[in-house]
Amino acid sequence: MEIYDLTAHELSRLLKAREISAAELTEAVLERVDEVEPAVRAYVTVTREEALAAARRVDEARARGEDLGPLAGIPMAVKDNMCTRTVRTTCSSRILENFIPPYDATVVERLAAAGTVMIGKTNLDEFAMGSSTENSAFFTTRNPWDLERVPGGSSGGSAAAVAAGEAVFSLGSDTGGSIRQPASLCSVVGLKPTYGRVSRFGLVAFASSLDQIGPLTKDVTDCALVMNVISGWDKMDSTSAPVEVPDFTQFLGREVRGLKIGLPREFFAEGIDREVKEIILTAVRVLEGLGAVVEETSLPHSDYSLPVYYILAPAEASSNLARFDGVRYGLRVDAPDLISMYGQTRSRGFGAEVRRRIIIGTYALSSGYYDAYYKKAQQVRTLIKQDFDRAFEKYDVLITPTSPTPAFKIGEKADNPIQMYLSDICTIPVNLAGIPGLSIPCGFTAEGLPVGMQLLGKPFAEGTLLQVAYAYEQSTDHHKKRPPLAGAAGGERHA
Ligand code: GLN
Repeated sequence: MEIYDLTAHELSRLLKAREISAAELTEAVLERVDEVEPAVRAYVTVTREEALAAARRVDEARARGEDLGPLAGIPMAVKDNMCTRTVRTTCSSRILENFIPPYDATVVERLAAAGTVMIGKTNLDEFAMGSSTENSAFFTTRNPWDLERVPGGSSGGSAAAVAAGEAVFSLGSDTGGSIRQPASLCSVVGLKPTYGRVSRFGLVAFASSLDQIGPLTKDVTDCALVMNVISGWDKMDSTSAPVEVPDFTQFLGREVRGLKIGLPREFFAEGIDREVKEIILTAVRVLEGLGAVVEETSLPHSDYSLPVYYILAPAEASSNLARFDGVRYGLRVDAPDLISMYGQTRSRGFGAEVRRRIIIGTYALSSGYYDAYYKKAQQVRTLIKQDFDRAFEKYDVLITPTSPTPAFKIGEKADNPIQMYLSDICTIPVNLAGIPGLSIPCGFTAEGLPVGMQLLGKPFAEGTLLQVAYAYEQSTDHHKKRPPLAGAAGGERHA
């Protein structure tokens, strides 16, 4: 394996033992970026100089004998919808193409305080609306496992960067699946924490009742390490929860014997690719072999998740995106009067999918339709949440596929919004209920495309998800596979 193939906890050991310096490690990852980025295109902005300076500071601190945490000196990437002071934050949109925020997002601040080294900002579907990164106003990121295919989205750049060895870990945001679905398509671990677990201060809002920030990592241990740094109450985010944060690594290695796992039948029904389903069921048998008790169960209102989401998310987005009006942020298209300045700025600054959502959301919230759409959707959302409450009276964890299909071809769904929306059929109910969801690599199709398994838990039970995911990971070797990218001498080619 090459240096850029290693996990954060492996590299942490090398850094502590001074077998490698943070500056050398950062150079190695930047070299990897130079090597594969022309093919993968995970980054909107690479912060080479800042990264090397940050790495040198970590080396100096270590030389002074300072006590550094496990992530000190680890190169990572941040989705380009999280604010970074002095580094432009574009949301992969023309309207913010040159926007440099005056402050850091809380997660960025916490990761910097932990000594991590930011390599750059990753590509996404514009304002996190999409499932493939094809909605980026700049370019489409490619799946490192098959460059003709999408990496998933909207955190496609973050997932591809980790899978391709262009970052050791990354941050994504997840409103309806945007961490878990790309994690699944790129064979990395992705966790959407419980609503309120991680501060969203400095995350450019898409749908505020659904958005969460979380890690994309090479394995479960790294996921726990990143969660330890980014979790916890923040006075800058009134929706962050004052709930105690455990040391998430303490859940790793606990056995799963006797744990109750439910398989909601609605998530294994029509519309789920047959191969995906078989791979998930094989993975479930591994957990059964470790002593977990597995049963079929039901989440009867699941079918309503997609329609409910596509009322609520656009409604919230239409309101959140009203601030981009050419006055305070980013792009302004000059026009003879104020109203046409708004209109021209927004029609030129926003892409087609963003405009579609603003129109749908504005319609759903308009006075004559509010009760019929928005209010009704909120009521059904409660029913969806109650399904989960009931299931968790009986089960510790629920398991489903993360994505109904493996990575699809670039262009395959680009002209069909409904087909694209269906990519999140398994992940959206989880945001509606506010519970944590983790996607873990669990195999490959005959074509060599990654498949992810989704683990769902009770609110604030991320620890249980990490426990089950780790037990699974220890019994399998999917997480050790690396994509056969050109120049990847250390990449283990998957048969
Ligand atoms: N694909 C979903 C959407 O387009 C979810 C996106 C997300 O989680 N940010 O809204």
